[in-house]
Amino acid sequence: MLKTERYRHFVEYFSKNQPDAVTELHYENPYQLLVAVILSAQCTDKRINQVTPKLFERFPDAASLAASDADEIFTYIRSVSYPNNKAKHLAGMGKILMENFGGVVPSGLDELQMMPGVGRKTANVIASVVFDAPAIAVDTHVFRVANRLGLVRASTPLAVEKQLVKNLPENTLAIAHHWLILHGRYICVARSPKCDICPLTWFCKYYAQHNTETALLKAEALKLKKVKDAKKKKALNAISKELKKRSVDKDI
Ligand code: SF4
Repeated sequence: MLKTERYRHFVEYFSKNQPDAVTELHYENPYQLLVAVILSAQCTDKRINQVTPKLFERFPDAASLAASDADEIFTYIRSVSYPNNKAKHLAGMGKILMENFGGVVPSGLDELQMMPGVGRKTANVIASVVFDAPAIAVDTHVFRVANRLGLVRASTPLAVEKQLVKNLPENTLAIAHHWLILHGRYICVARSPKCDICPLTWFCKYYAQHNTETALLKAEALKLKKVKDAKKKKALNAISKELKKRSVDKDI
């Protein structure tokens, strides 16, 4: 199947079935989204949504965050992953937002990345979700699913981002980020993708590679080889046990 066809099927399927996909992080304004996305690195959205209500109550804006320090912020986010670093990032982020941008979240990728804890991925999320910029953030789910589906063939997040930006219609970039994340989170999971319930098998490259007759034969041959090796291993173990026993007998 041609790559252009895959993109077409991908956009058609999700536009029809998930036309309103959005982030699962709870937020009410750009500042809150920025805080939530910084916190969500290496952590689940569910966990972040548990801590942000109290965090936003205490720190409703960049000014309150800037007036505090990492030690106090830590007490509100201690249950997320890497709380020490993230508390320092939020404290620094609040100060830079106040000093450089008057407390308003900037729209440019370079400006966003001036803040601690904000890398290209986070900057792309803010740019596309808040400012409708033609950008797509590549996290671990986007990276994996885009490669498996055959939308991209890339080994770095930046290469995935460039290929997606090049091939997806511009008006779908922001929502495609959510399509790929949600599909990766609930169906195309990292260790054992749930292909048996996936509606995308008919154009998925990974599925084709692992479920053609040749692929199945190869898997079967590999299984047999393993059994053979295991038998060999068992025989060798028995021989070595026997040899050990004989040497003990000799010592006696
Ligand atoms: S068919 Fe399998 S590998 Fe392909 S997208 Fe679906 S779950 Fe992922």
